[in-house]
Amino acid sequence: MKPAAFAYTRARTLKEAVTLLARHKDDARLLAGGQSLIATLNMRLSAPELLIDINGIKGLDGIAKKGKFIEIGALARHAQVERSDIISKHAPLIALAMPHIGHPAIRNRGTFGGSIAFADPAAELPACVLALGGEIAITGPRGKRKVKADAFFKGLFETALRPQEMVTAVRIPAADKNTRVGFAELARRHGDYAIVGLAGTARATGKALADVRLAFFGVGATPVRAKQAEVALAAGNIDAAVDALDLDPHDDVQATGKVKKHLAGVLLRRVARQLLEGRP
Ligand SMILES: Cc1cc2nc3c(=O)[nH]c(=O)nc-3n(C[C@H](O)[C@H](O)[C@H](O)COP(=O)(O)OP(=O)(O)OC[C@H]3O[C@@H](n4cnc5c(N)ncnc54)[C@H](O)[C@@H]3O)c2cc1C
Repeated sequence: MKPAAFAYTRARTLKEAVTLLARHKDDARLLAGGQSLIATLNMRLSAPELLIDINGIKGLDGIAKKGKFIEIGALARHAQVERSDIISKHAPLIALAMPHIGHPAIRNRGTFGGSIAFADPAAELPACVLALGGEIAITGPRGKRKVKADAFFKGLFETALRPQEMVTAVRIPAADKNTRVGFAELARRHGDYAIVGLAGTARATGKALADVRLAFFGVGATPVRAKQAEVALAAGNIDAAVDALDLDPHDDVQATGKVKKHLAGVLLRRVARQLLEGRP
């Protein structure tokens, strides 16, 4: 299918992009990597009058260590993140997740900020940023603000972003020697969206774990933390964590809710071992 007719413009600066968004309100959409947007236009799930191409805005594609944090620019391509030394050294959870996102052609164009803003409930990066307790940097006509990942993902493809705002960067804590991460997903074919996936983080304290965060994806309208399982896992008991798994997935095109709940338990065992043994 072809998209409905739309006008196209290229924003040269952040200010220009935000001004255009404010002027055209719901009639406009930002175009980043286009890997999700163009498909929704082609399927006529969305028919904006104007596409604002943000690919020419300078300074939004950096990946940098800033003190105890890693900042990933909204326009950093998935492939760039995947190959980044800073990410492999200081953000091991993101490094583990990256190869699971689509295929190389998609990762060459898709952007970090696009994935976070699109907020597909089966996508890897929103769950990783939630597990890491990250923060989303946003710019709008009234200036800049930051929203914690826990408050950013609000509903199905719905985020804390207002219509005139854009994501400029994502900030996550840099890993240190006590950081533990784990990642696993089940998909029909490698590169497909996950049926169920899990991104986990924790802090090693001797033989135990603290600050366990388990963010599942593909099990609800948003990435979902399993908070009771987090508490049980911090005590070091994997069986208790699986028994405490506080998820209630609905049926979708990939699997029934019952199957998803079972798979979530399987993934929890895998990720729990990665976190406890410190070997993802
Ligand atoms: C065949 C296929 C398989 C895929 N498989 C996976 C997968 O397994 N896992 C996965 O996570 N993703 C997958 N994707 C999606 C891919 O990761 C996309 O790159 C990502 O979801 C969106 O990023 P984008 O830069 O392409 O955004 P776009 O498609 O350009 O934009 C998506 C939406 O986000 C908005 N947007 C974009 N950037 C910003 C910003 N900075 N601020 C505010 N709003 C913004 C746009 O207006 C639009 O509404 C797949 C895509 C395809 C085509």
